[in-house]
Order: sequence, then C-alpha cells, then structure tokens
Amino acid sequence: MQKGNLFVISGPSGAGKGTLVARLIERIPNTWLSISATTREPRPGEIPGIHYFFMTDSEFKTLADAHGFLEWARVHDHYYGTPRSHIEEHIANGDQVILEIDVQGALQVRRAMPECHLIFVEPPSLEELESRLRGRATEPEDVILSRLKTAEVELSHKMEYDYQVVNDDLDQATQDLVDIITRYANTKEEVR
Ligand code: 5GP
Repeated sequence: MQKGNLFVISGPSGAGKGTLVARLIERIPNTWLSISATTREPRPGEIPGIHYFFMTDSEFKTLADAHGFLEWARVHDHYYGTPRSHIEEHIANGDQVILEIDVQGALQVRRAMPECHLIFVEPPSLEELESRLRGRATEPEDVILSRLKTAEVELSHKMEYDYQVVNDDLDQATQDLVDIITRYANTKEEVR
C-alpha cells in the first residue's frame, strides 16, 4: 500500500484555516485531521475529543514530559500540542494526515519529520484579518489585539513554508489547497 503524507497547515487566526480544512476533508478521501490537546477553555459549541482534547496544565505537562507530543507550543497564553499517537499509523495506512497548528509547532514538525509539507494560509491583508476577527465577535478587545500582534509575527514566517495560499475567495483557496494535497496523495478528488 502506498504511504500517506503529512501536511501541516498554519496561518493567523481569522485567516480561515478551520473552514478551509473542513472543506478539504470533505473533498479528499482518506484525509485524517489530527485532534490537538490544549489547556484553553472550550468555546461555546466545542466538543471535547472532537475539536480538541481539553486538558489542565498539569495533564498537559505530564504528557509533554512523557514525549507524548510530536510538537507543542505556547500560543495566545495557552499550551497546544499534537498528540504523537496515531499520526505515524495513519501515514502508514495511506491516509493524508492534516495538522492545523501554529508556526512554532510547524517548524518543530519539520525538524522531526522533514518529509512533511508545510502550507501557510494567509488573509488578503492585515486590515481584512482585523475585520474578520472583529466580525467573529467571540473575543474581547485585548484578545483581538493580541491575536493581531501574533498574526504579524506569523506572517513574517510565511516564506519558510513550502506553499502559501491566500484566502481571498473561499472557493479558490479551497481549490488551491485541494490541488496541493492531491498532487502528493495520488488520489482523485471526490466528485459531489
Ligand atoms: P484556537 O485557540 O483559536 O483554536 O487556536 C489558536 C492557535 O493555536 C491557532 O493558530 C492554531 O493553529 C494553534 N494550534 C492548534 N492546535 C495546535 C497544536 O497542536 N500545536 C500548535 N503548535 N498549535 C496549535
């Protein structure tokens, strides 16, 4: 059986990574999205074990000390990590494994698994990003400002990625991502 591939997708919050990833999973067969662990509180509607594994700081630290994470990083004042278990198994099974993680984590994954493919999703502009973050209205002002600052730092790393996808038009950006993944996946997009 042909092995799968590992794709790491990053980009500032508000760039639309989550929506794009959900769309590409619907369109490409045998994709497997890794579920991260985090110490932040669940947002309304988030389900433990589906959106994240929600952990206390001490649970997270115990798993990190036991080398249970492929990578982990502190993002927006909380810890986030990719559980190591299942990733290699899914790649060996021929799945296209997707990690949606921040820049610090992506660069750690590249060191651990240099064969991975890094994809950066960027907003059309910082102004557009700000208006999307405000439009979401899920976070208070200080959180929005801190996310914008982090966004500038993340954007400064975009050229370290193998691919950059600008999320201006959602359909076009989805197609760009699908094209990148199917190039490696040697699989046909599902026609719906
Ligand atoms: P949010 O709290 O909005 O769900 O995610 C905040 C940031 O954490 C996003 O940039 C997201 O990509 C990143 N993130 C989510 N899971 C992980 C992970 O497992 N590792 C790392 N390094 N970053 C993550």
